[in-house]
Parts: sequence; C-alpha cells; structure tokens
Amino acid sequence: MFAVKRALKLNKKEATLMAKNAGFRRVVFNLGLSLRTQMYGEGQFTDSKVINEIKKVLTNHVKKQPECAWMNQLSSRVYQNALIDLKKAFARYREGKAGHPKFASRRDGQSFAVDSSNGKVLLKAGNTIKIPTLGTFRLEEPLECGFVSQTFTISKEGNRWFVSFCVDAQRRPQKQPESSVGIDVGVKSFATLSKGQVFNAPKPLKQAKTKLARLQCKASRQVKGSQNQRKTYNSISRLHARIACIRKDFLHKLTTSTAKTFKLIKIEDLNVSGMLANHKLAGAIADLGFYEFKRQLEYKCQMYGASLVLVERWFPSSKICSNCGHKQEMPLSIRTYDCPGCGVSIDRDLNASLNILNWEPSA
Ligand SMILES: [Zn+2]
Repeated sequence: MFAVKRALKLNKKEATLMAKNAGFRRVVFNLGLSLRTQMYGEGQFTDSKVINEIKKVLTNHVKKQPECAWMNQLSSRVYQNALIDLKKAFARYREGKAGHPKFASRRDGQSFAVDSSNGKVLLKAGNTIKIPTLGTFRLEEPLECGFVSQTFTISKEGNRWFVSFCVDAQRRPQKQPESSVGIDVGVKSFATLSKGQVFNAPKPLKQAKTKLARLQCKASRQVKGSQNQRKTYNSISRLHARIACIRKDFLHKLTTSTAKTFKLIKIEDLNVSGMLANHKLAGAIADLGFYEFKRQLEYKCQMYGASLVLVERWFPSSKICSNCGHKQEMPLSIRTYDCPGCGVSIDRDLNASLNILNWEPSA
C-alpha cells in the first residue's frame, strides 16, 4: 500500500468549498468529542455504540436547527469521516498511543476526508481528479496512471490545498537503468550528482528574484496605503506565484528523472533549521526548496520503486576526500577540493556527492 498526494489547482469558489468542508469537519468532530466526553463516565459503552448515538443526535437534532442548515448542503461523507476520526482518536488514546483527543481548532490546520460509500472508485490518469461527493478538480501535477481508491483526505498547507489517498496495490516498479547515485544539494548549484551531472536553478528564477527585490524596494519607498503601493504589492504577489511555479516545475523534472533513473538514491538529510540560523545560507536554502525536493523524492521513489537513503545529518560530506578519506576544513568559499593526502583535485560539490554515495549507516 502506498499514498499518493497531489496539490490541487483551485479557483476561489472551489477553495471556499474546501474551507467550508474543513469547518464542517471541525464542528462535527468537536461536537462528537464533547458528547463522547459526557458519556465517558456512563457505564460500559463501546466506541461504536457511542458514535452511533452521536450520529443520531446530529441527524435528528443538530442538523435540523436552522443555524445548522448549512451542514445539509455539504457532503455527508465529511461528517461520517469526522466521526470515524474521533473513534480512531479514542482507540489510540485507550491503547496508550496518544493523549486524550483534543478539540480541533482552525489553527491546527484545515483538513477533512470524504469517501465513496459505494466502495472503491477508479481515478483516471490526467490533469484532473474526481473526488467522491465533491466534484472534479484540476491538479497541479497530473496522475501519471489510473489509480483505485476509496477515501480521500483534503488538507491545506500554507496557501495550497492538497488531496491524498491510499492505493491498495503494489507499485509496478520502473526498471531503473542505473544502480545508485549520491546527490549533493547546495547553494551554488542546486544539485550535483555523483555521476557528474549538475542541476542549476533555472535562469528565469534568478531574473524573477532580481525583479522581486526591485519591486520590494519600490514598495517601501511609496506612500503607505496609496493606490500605487497597492499596485506594486499586487505585482509582488503575482511574481511570488510565478517564482513558486518555476521552482516547482524545476524540482518535479529533477526528482522524476532521478527516481526513474537510479535504483538507489542517497541524499543528505540536511538540518535545514540549523542552516537557516546561518543567515548567508538561509535565503539560498529556503529559496531553493530543499524540503520540497526531499518530499517529492520520497514519494516518487516509492512510486517508481527506487530506494531513498537519507545520509545522517552530521556526516561531513564536504570535508572528506572521496578518493583517500583525508579530512580537512572546507570553508564555503573554496570551490575545489585539493587533497594533500593523495593529490586529487576535484569540484567541491562533486566530491561531496561521491562521499554521500559511499556513505553507509554505522551499525
Ligand atoms: Zn585524498
């Protein structure tokens, strides 16, 4: 079994629908939780029995209240799934795997689940997805083949909505032509492969960023709250969206080709928060989307049957000579590794990627 997750490309109306459903889920979950807590002391009710009672209260009383009429316009599967979540939360609590279920708050993030009550549905390959009881929506990245699934979780991360679902089958693994690769993710070039290929962040990205800096500077000089400043802010937000788009496209191409080419992929599990503390690196790393790179690589490796190995955070990949094992300090400004031990002279990032490739977990 594996999970598929895709970003949705929603218009305003669709995004509002998702937010309403997430609100519905929260209201039902919290109502159920308060009812369940009240019944907790009363004898030996099983969870299923309690949930059934809660359903009766919701259907026969709550949903009939005029102020709750909006609930009837939304998918009843949202409310069914909210109660399934509640039941699971109590089961985990009783097994000692989690604390007592807490009331859901908007701040914890917005999400909800729907399912098809008639069993599994077939999802067609392509740029859209038909989600049971919600409708058909556009995807940022296509489904590359048909899938069969039943339950769909919709969640909001940052400003984007995602759909995820489980697929109950084995992947048909891709036959990767090459055995293994180490990848060094850096600031100067985004990715350096131990085979020697270098992937630089796309040029339009750099141009867009220069323009962004210029606009931000312009906005700061304009009269606060003026028509002109608003116009500049609009251009800034459009440019942000464009940058995100270029970057995502670049990362998707890179991660897809890597997962399809290599059976074993090793990357450093970068300590991003540690690096973000270093101001010089912060912009570059956050910017280039190391998180997103890792996230895409994780699910694509699963999808294409490749293995992903995360190299331990503190492994000094740039300080070791990949040829003889000599170790020396390597300030960021030094772009070539010149080894006094064996005399090798090699590009800094390529050297690091070879060390990443050769890394083995300590037993
Ligand atoms: Zn050496």
